[in-house]
Amino acid sequence: MPLCFDLDGTLGHFSSGFVLLREALGELWGSAPSAEELGRCTGSTDWEIVDELHRMRFETGLDEAGYEAYEAACVERFRTVFAPGGREAVAYAGILDALHRLAAHHRVWVVSGNAPDLLAFKAEVLGIDPAIPRLGSLPRHDRTALLRRALQDCPGPHLYVGDRPHDLNAAQAAGLPFLGVGGAVPGAHPSLPIDADPEQVVQSVAALMR
Ligand SMILES: [Mg+2]
Repeated sequence: MPLCFDLDGTLGHFSSGFVLLREALGELWGSAPSAEELGRCTGSTDWEIVDELHRMRFETGLDEAGYEAYEAACVERFRTVFAPGGREAVAYAGILDALHRLAAHHRVWVVSGNAPDLLAFKAEVLGIDPAIPRLGSLPRHDRTALLRRALQDCPGPHLYVGDRPHDLNAAQAAGLPFLGVGGAVPGAHPSLPIDADPEQVVQSVAALMR
């Protein structure tokens, strides 16, 4: 019965993450992609975004080795910037609490657009129980493909909790009910504020399970 949660913007946030992504690619590629180039990307996962930027820069698709190099450089940037005494991540305490309460009774996954090692770093910073499985951005997978992979061979009910229209679109494409967090996903689905209390989150999830 996997209940899947996005991470960034859903369980907390790490400010200026896209600046760090551009800086990491700048280290590898000689100069960073511009904010305008990043803005032209249509994907919502690290693989898709770095692949799109790679095509803009080099006119060829990203390969696995290039993605691994990006992942290592990006994790290094995050570890430096979010080190103790540096910038602090914001944790959505009530939603994180609910995630752990739900994990005591259901299969819960974190399914995020971050590259796997970056997802591991962010999950650790937010204090997510390491026993909760995580699925980060894999080569040649969009978010819908990631969700389908997380749900493979698992009986329903399933659910995706996310904060952006791309999360809603992926949930719909994968045939999942959707619970929104924050005010950035317009639509008729149920939605929670980022400071929702755990009971409110658990009740909202329970109402959507099928
Ligand atoms: Mg998000």
